[in-house]
Order: sequence, then C-alpha cells, then structure tokens
Amino acid sequence: MTFSELGLRAELLRAVEAQGYTTPTPIQRQAIPAVLNGGDLLASAQTGTGKTAGFTLPMLQRLADGKRPGKRQIRALVLTPTRELAAQVGESVADYGRHLTLKSHVIFGGVGQQPQVDAIRPGLDVLVATPGRLLDLQQQKHVDLSQVEILVLDEADRMLDMGFIHDIKKILKVLPPKRQNLLFSATFSDEIQALANKLLDRPAMIEVARRNTTAELVDQAIYRVDREKKRELLAHLITENDWHQVLVFTRTKHGANRLAEQLSKQEIPAMAIHGNKSQSARTKALAAFKSGDLQVLVATDIAARGLDISELPHVVNFELPNVAEDYVHRIGRTGRAGSEGQAVSLVCVDEHGLLKGIERLIKRDLEKRIEPGFEPDPNAKPEPIENGRNRRGGGGGRGGQGRGNGAQTRGQGSGQRRDDERGQARRRRRGGGNSGGGRQQA
Ligand code: AMP
Repeated sequence: MTFSELGLRAELLRAVEAQGYTTPTPIQRQAIPAVLNGGDLLASAQTGTGKTAGFTLPMLQRLADGKRPGKRQIRALVLTPTRELAAQVGESVADYGRHLTLKSHVIFGGVGQQPQVDAIRPGLDVLVATPGRLLDLQQQKHVDLSQVEILVLDEADRMLDMGFIHDIKKILKVLPPKRQNLLFSATFSDEIQALANKLLDRPAMIEVARRNTTAELVDQAIYRVDREKKRELLAHLITENDWHQVLVFTRTKHGANRLAEQLSKQEIPAMAIHGNKSQSARTKALAAFKSGDLQVLVATDIAARGLDISELPHVVNFELPNVAEDYVHRIGRTGRAGSEGQAVSLVCVDEHGLLKGIERLIKRDLEKRIEPGFEPDPNAKPEPIENGRNRRGGGGGRGGQGRGNGAQTRGQGSGQRRDDERGQARRRRRGGGNSGGGRQQA
C-alpha cells in the first residue's frame, strides 16, 4: 500500500515524500480514506502511531478540494490538550500543506495574546489550538468559528483529564452543527464514550493496537534497588553502559529538578522538563536532547506527553508512575518506528504494589535484575510514596507541558513562567484566565 493508493492529491504526496515516508502506517491506511469520505471518525490511537498525518493529510485535501474564493475562513479546527501537541500538529499541518495555498496558525496559552490576534485577523483556513486560549479569543470575538467544517479533537482523553471538558462544550456550542468530527483518544473511558456519543454521527471506528503494550521491540527490565541508591545506580548504568539520549521519568517536578542537578554534578549532562519550566527552558532542553547534545532529559509524565522524540534508545523510570497506564505511555517513547529500545525501571521496596499493577496491566511479568554493588537491603521497610498523586486528575502536575520548537513557534512569552493549562481552565471557569500563543503558517 502506498500513499497515492489512498487517494491523496499530488501536492500532498509530494509533501509526504519530502518527509521520507514511503508506507502509510496502519492508522493512516484506515483514517485517510475514512476522513476523505467526509464522515465522522472515532479513532483509538496514541502518539507514535502516525495519527497526526492520519487526520492532517485528508483534512488538508478536503479543505483544498472545497476551497472557495474570498476571505479565508477557519474551516478546520484542531483542538489539542497541550501547547506542545498544538505546536507539533501545527508543524505537521505546515509541512504537509506546504504545496497547497492554505494558511494555518497555532494558538495556545501562557504567552501574549495580541500577536495571535494579529495573526488570525487576516484570515486562516486551519486553526490548531488548546481549548482555553481559543475560548478566550472566541469570547473576545477575535476568532470566528462559524464556518468550521472539520473539527478534530486530538488526545481527547488527555483534554478531559486536564479539565477541559467545559471549555470544549462551550466551543462546540459556537460551531456550526453540520460538520465533520474526528475524535482521537488513546483510551476509552466512560467520559470519552459520552463525549463521542454526543459529538459523533455514525462514526467510522478505528482501533490501532496500542504501541508497545506487547512491546516486542522494547527490552524491559526492573532493577531492584534501595530508595536511597537509585540516583547512584542510574549514574552507574548510564556511565557503565555508555547510554546516550536517556529519557528519565520522575514522579514529581521537584524530583525531576533535583535529579537533573545531581546528574549534572556527576558530569552527566542532564536537564529537567516539566510544567513549571519556562517555555524557553523547555525549548532549549528539548532541542539539546533531540540533537544529541544533552545526554539525559528528566521529565514528569505530563511534560513528556506528546513529545515527538522518535527512536529513543533508553527510557528509565526513576520512579514508577502511580497510574499503571502511564508506564505504557512512558515506555512508548522508546523502540519507535521499528527501532529497538530499552526501558529500565528502578524499583524500591515502596513500589512493589505499583509494579504489580503494571504487570497486571501489561499482562506479563517483567524481568527483575540486581546490579552488583546495588543489592537491595532485604529487610528494608516500605514507606509511603512521597508526593505521590494518586489518580489522574488528582493533585498538581497534570497540567503543564510545552512544546519547544524554536524553528516554527514564535513563543511571544518565552521566558515567562508557563501556566498550567488545567489551572487556566479552572481559572477561566471562575471568570479569570489568560492564555497565549505561538505562530505558524502553512
Ligand atoms: P504521530 O503518532 O502522529 O505523533 O507520529 C509519530 C511519528 O511517526 C512522527 O515522528 C512522524 O513524523 C512519523 N510518521 C508518521 N507517519 C509516518 C509514516 N507513514 N512512515 C514513517 N514515519 C511516519
């Protein structure tokens, strides 16, 4: 199967070719014809499956096919939970649409509003946005959504987790009733199902096997170690095995900062990326990591969500996540696009319950290792997990994340402290709230 067999027009095929893709991924094979047909779509797919091209390519084709003379109107609206994902999707729209005459722009919270207003005013075909800022601009009449023909909700489960449901409902109210709706979600909770039922009309359903649940390509192992020895073991594993490009997950922002500092002191270049970091700090860290200059990126779950870091050789769970499903998301960062990856978890006595939960979820026992010199104390007593947030949506830290993309996103507020998107959603419901933008053109 080739992209041309999917019925895409020459301009899009050229753009796809320029990206170096030869074969459509399973979600693309299914989603592209379904979207070209004009019907609604419910797709179960997470980052790494090629979902973005799966909806962007046919969306652009439909927009180009139906292009009318006159002032540009927003005809496609893509909502994403985070600014990072928004910027990433915006970049795909710009890349795939480079041979078409469509204009697109990305808006998200946490940076100044005026440059976004200025960018929208002359007219756009595609708007990619996080819900909060979009609603702010729509309520101030800077954005007209009355001509939207295609609505995409990307990572809808994440949007609900982050408390955006009220904003989404308000946005739906100002869209024309007749439109094509595409809903992408990694998971299907009752809440998502309810949203799908309300939103979608006889949707085509696509389910792509979640990447790495079977994890043939990911070598997963558990290192049993004492709580206090984790940092030392991590430094040892990185140095001894000569690991480069290591993505390390911690449970808390504070833990991420501390670990990055400590590794740096041991001459292992490391930076932390999380919701409290400024946009410019995240951009810098991500760019250095992607280019291979930065050996270790320490991230919280939320910060790593949606990051397009492909073919990562090593993922380390410095601490196991409280939500077993996040383990699958975390190790999904490695072994992407057919390359082999290694996922290592450092597990102390406090985390045995969490480990059991993960093994139950992935339906397999993970290999347990003990590194010589780091043997755990068999008499160690478990302690409650410090700063542990219990469930999705509970506690802080589920909100902040940012896409650092210096090339295409003009972060007007770079240097500003990044606001938690979910916090913004809450504030907005209380009547305050502000968000921001970056800009981009197709
Ligand atoms: P996504 O799931 O949309 O975040 O895409 C994951 C990664 O796969 C991105 O780095 C894309 O550039 C890449 N990708 C998307 N489609 C293809 C394809 N057909 N062949 C190879 N790589 C692809």
